[in-house]
Amino acid sequence: MNAMTTPLTGGCLCGAVRYTVSAPIAAWRACHCTHCQKASGTGMSVNAVIPAAGFALTQGSPKRFEARADSGRILYRYFCGDCGSPLYSHRQTSPERLVLRAGSLDQPPAVTIASNIWTASARPWSHIDPESEQHPANPPG
Ligand SMILES: [Zn+2]
Ligand SMILES: [Zn+2]
Repeated sequence: MNAMTTPLTGGCLCGAVRYTVSAPIAAWRACHCTHCQKASGTGMSVNAVIPAAGFALTQGSPKRFEARADSGRILYRYFCGDCGSPLYSHRQTSPERLVLRAGSLDQPPAVTIASNIWTASARPWSHIDPESEQHPANPPG
């Protein structure tokens, strides 16, 4: 992976919560599920998947919202309690893998979105790169 892109820094809109990412980003992925639509106020969340071991909060502490999917699975969604910016999420059962909201990075690397998930609920006004991998729901595995 490109050493020049790490460590990355990021945070919320008001600056109360700040973080660094010191591990290579494992995947770039957009999620079109209805929860991400509500939580972002847009058509999707755009995410960098990273190992939690490579993530550190350097300032503040986000609030956590426990969202239960139709499958019964619980997803913890972390956001700034002051300005509301969504920051990252992880499954209750897999805290070792964080799904970081790419827009919260200060200088996101210039990459395209490699995969789109939950495309079955994608809004007609969301663009999906036809070159990308696409899954109607969660990716297999
Ligand atoms: Zn904030
Ligand atoms: Zn989602």
